Amino acid sequence: MATTMTATKTQFINGAWQASRMGATREIRDPGNGELVAVVSEATREDARLAIQAARDAFDQGPWRSLPALDRAKLLFKVAEGIRERADELASLEVRSCGKPLAEAEYDVADAANCFEFYGGLATKIHGETMQVPANGISFVVREPIGVCGQIIPWNYPLLMAAWKLGPALAAGNTLVLKPSELTPLTAIELFKILETAGFPPGVVNLITGPGAGAGEELAESPFVDKIAFTGGTVTGRKIVQAATGNLKRATLELGGKNPNIVFENADFEAAVDGALFGAFANQGEVCTAGSRLLVQRSIHRKLVDAMLAKIPRIKLGHGLEAGVKMGPLVSEAHRAKVESYIEIGRNEGARLLCGGRRPADPDLARGWFLEPTIFDDVTPGMRVAREEIFGPVLSVIPFDTEADAIRIANDTEYGLAAGVWTQDITQAHRVVRELRAGITWINTYHPTYNELPWGGYKQSGWGRELGLHGIEAYLEIKQVNVNLDTAPIGWY
Ligand code: NDP
Repeated sequence: MATTMTATKTQFINGAWQASRMGATREIRDPGNGELVAVVSEATREDARLAIQAARDAFDQGPWRSLPALDRAKLLFKVAEGIRERADELASLEVRSCGKPLAEAEYDVADAANCFEFYGGLATKIHGETMQVPANGISFVVREPIGVCGQIIPWNYPLLMAAWKLGPALAAGNTLVLKPSELTPLTAIELFKILETAGFPPGVVNLITGPGAGAGEELAESPFVDKIAFTGGTVTGRKIVQAATGNLKRATLELGGKNPNIVFENADFEAAVDGALFGAFANQGEVCTAGSRLLVQRSIHRKLVDAMLAKIPRIKLGHGLEAGVKMGPLVSEAHRAKVESYIEIGRNEGARLLCGGRRPADPDLARGWFLEPTIFDDVTPGMRVAREEIFGPVLSVIPFDTEADAIRIANDTEYGLAAGVWTQDITQAHRVVRELRAGITWINTYHPTYNELPWGGYKQSGWGRELGLHGIEAYLEIKQVNVNLDTAPIGWY
């Protein structure tokens, strides 16, 4: 695979591409083969401060807030078109950044374009309310942008997460500073070139490329940032909240999950087998909503596990740009080591390793951070591999006896992000979903995500919702306006 060496990729601050103030850079390497893909400026706190200042000025003084919503909408439509024009290039860059198979990256790119289009449509639908109040007056409610938004995203869906953050924030009329993961800034950089071409006023959209320590912390702590939107691990989410208390900035959090995918004995068997595998192994399992706990009714437990094992050889490992590959490498060496440590933990806890648990023997894959799809069987709910987010291709199978057992085990977690239910009994499906403490649920499917629907979790899986109508609400303040129609003074004194 060819290495593309270009000049250092810089950050987009106040409408201009700028190197890091300290001159620091970072090499971005392809997780599938270790090849150098690009060199990127490494942001410091100072870069973050400059970007925040630019966003502050653009919000407080710039033309952005007074721009008609229709003009904001048109800009967002242009971004959607810009993404579509460069779709192939963006998809292959995404593969070389984070390792996912090309077909998945293509889906992400298309969905990112759709996201900008969805919020372009919503920009002109932001509306208020008029209320009848017990006075001679008119009282109404208007929605206004929050201000400067700091947006911090992870490495597993770099372009799509950027779209989820930028689309609603811009539709609502905010200005922003985006910080992608230090591991995967490349498609965000290309996205900002598209934003630049679309013609956003200087300072409205700013990109800093650097680590959470320093640059990310500045976004969370800064008194000049009005809202912080974060997607990532729950531990980091807690730090973000603590940092945000300084000026009590608004915060939305999309955090981790240990999601139950529940298969009842009356499920469509073949569909459930596919759904269990896809739920666990799509995007190498590096998905916050991965169905990483497979709860299977005991009567079909062995049969289902055998059917899954029979299909495991179809999950072809390889570089995401190779034809037919279904599972790419993990994002980094450090992350693979973390996932491997969980495999060791599972073994030591007494879970039964059915497949995987090791690096592939194929020497062609030795240069990437590959790990075979791994299934642990006979996992009990108290084991760490049943409770902690592994964020890799590791599935824990937990047998259960009754519907009540399934619900109890499913909810026995500090997380509450997603859950799946497989049954042909429609009454049972609704009964179980009603009992599940999770923000995203699927019946007889797993993983489809729609820009139109709210995305987020219960419990320690986050605060607030992204996407859908709820997603734009998270970027709006609400103001009441009271107009007095009495002409006489109130005569109180
Ligand atoms: P993190 O939560 O550490 O990173 C997510 C984002 O937050 C990155 O941009 C990161 O920057 C940034 N960040 C890290 N620390 C801080 C901080 N103190 N202040 C501000 N920003 C910060 O996730 P990791 O990438 O380290 O992954 C750790 C675990 O988190 C995973 O193993 C997985 O369990 C979970 N995770 C969950 C995701 C989800 O979608 N829910 C997504 C990714 C991870 P940078 O990377 O540049 O240092």
